[in-house]
Amino acid sequence: MTYVSNISESISKLIRIKTDDVELAFKPQNKVSKFFTKLKDKKNILESKNVIYKIPCECGSCYIGQTTQTLKKRVSQHKTTVSTFDKLFSVPRSKAELLIEAISKSALVKHVSETNHRFDFDAVEVLDSANLKLL
Ligand SMILES: [Zn+2]
Repeated sequence: MTYVSNISESISKLIRIKTDDVELAFKPQNKVSKFFTKLKDKKNILESKNVIYKIPCECGSCYIGQTTQTLKKRVSQHKTTVSTFDKLFSVPRSKAELLIEAISKSALVKHVSETNHRFDFDAVEVLDSANLKLL
C-alpha cells in the first residue's frame, strides 16, 4: 500500500493524471477528513460521477480513489476485486499467481492482501467532485 505524507498533493496528482480510475492514497481517516468537506446529500452519492471518494477500512486507514463512472459502479468493482482476491486461496497456485498479478494494480486489494482487513464499502463517501476547473 502507499502511504503519502501530503494528501492534498496526492489528490492534485490524481486530478492531473485525468485517467478513469486512479489509485489512491492510504491515510489515517481522521487526518484525511480535515482536508475535505463532506457532501451533504448522502442519498445520491452512489449515483454521482466524476468524484473523488473515500472507503474506510476497519484499521482506520482509508482508500481514496477517483472515478469517472458512477460511484455505485466503482464500489461494485472494488467489491468484485476483493472477492476475487478472497477466492485466490481456493484455486491452484498457477492461476493464483496470475490473479495476484492482475490484482496487484489495485492498491485497495493490495491492502486487503497484506493486512486481511475488510473495507466498509457501505460507508463510502464522496470527498470532492473531480469535475474541476483544473481539467
Ligand atoms: Zn486496513
